[in-house]
Amino acid sequence: MKPPPFAYRAPESLGEALSMLAEHGDDAKVLAGGQSLVPLLNLRLARPALLVDLARVPGLAGVDQRAGGLALGAMARERTLERSELVRRLAPLLSAALPFIGHPAIRSRGTLGGSLAHADPAAEIPAVAAALDAEMVVVSAGRGERTVAAKDFFSGYLSTALEPDEILTEVRIPPFPSGMGVSFMEVARRHGDFAMVGVAAAVRLEAGYIAEARLALTGVADAPVRAVDAERSLLGAAPDAASFAGAAQAVAQRLAPRSDLHGSAEYRREVAGTLVRRALAAASGRAAAHNLQGDLEEGAIP
Ligand SMILES: Cc1cc2nc3c(=O)[nH]c(=O)nc-3n(C[C@H](O)[C@H](O)[C@H](O)COP(=O)(O)OP(=O)(O)OC[C@H]3O[C@@H](n4cnc5c(N)ncnc54)[C@H](O)[C@@H]3O)c2cc1C
Repeated sequence: MKPPPFAYRAPESLGEALSMLAEHGDDAKVLAGGQSLVPLLNLRLARPALLVDLARVPGLAGVDQRAGGLALGAMARERTLERSELVRRLAPLLSAALPFIGHPAIRSRGTLGGSLAHADPAAEIPAVAAALDAEMVVVSAGRGERTVAAKDFFSGYLSTALEPDEILTEVRIPPFPSGMGVSFMEVARRHGDFAMVGVAAAVRLEAGYIAEARLALTGVADAPVRAVDAERSLLGAAPDAASFAGAAQAVAQRLAPRSDLHGSAEYRREVAGTLVRRALAAASGRAAAHNLQGDLEEGAIP
């Protein structure tokens, strides 16, 4: 398969890249890791006249701690983030989800920003961004910088709030409450395939009850789904099978997934409920272990 002809530019500054996008508008496409865009070109599902490769633009691949949270460059490779001790500590849900993306070779090229900008409805990172209340920093030549919350970023099937002349430069992840247990689970037809359904869950316990819960799903709608009603229903509940089953039922009832070659809507709804139940149980178990560890360190348990 060969792509249609295109011009290729590799600017060496962000300003230069933004000027190219401003000049060419819809005819230009940013190239990051190429793991989604190149297949689209080869299948001739995308026909940009110009590719603006971000590989040589400095300062876009940082992995930094900022204000207790993380500031991650859009060009940070998925594999770099997967291996980062800082990410494991400050965004453990992201660390948990990254190994589910394709295979190591794909993650070595694929970028954080590419996954978010591409917004595949079955991708892992968008669901994690939704669960973590991440913020996207977006820049254009004409309008400067703006910040878009994850809940406003994903607008539909392969669609985001990004305008054709904008580049996603940074993803900010707010401080993650200490003692939160996390779990990412998915069902795919084969290891490395896109998820049929995936669930990102995080739970914090106080005095043995659920004090905070986060739940986001992928593969069940055109964009990631944050299950806020189910999260609320868990507050103050005991972390037990009945609470998790109630949350799973609430999530499954509200979903209206599509049927496709890989599975029917009914199957996806069923799997979503099961994964929510299991992911909440796993996240709660880890939260309880964190609390026990904390008590031991403080000497509360001799
Ligand atoms: C065999 C295979 C299996 C895969 N499996 C999975 C999987 O299981 N889960 C999963 O989530 N992904 C999967 N992927 C996709 C992979 O994660 C991609 O890396 C990711 O979706 C896109 O990142 P990229 O850096 O390669 O972006 P590219 O392919 O370079 O770009 C994708 C799109 O985003 C735009 N874009 C990229 N960066 C920016 C930016 N900074 N600002 C504005 N626009 C930008 C591009 O213009 C393009 O439209 C798979 C890919 C392959 C080839």
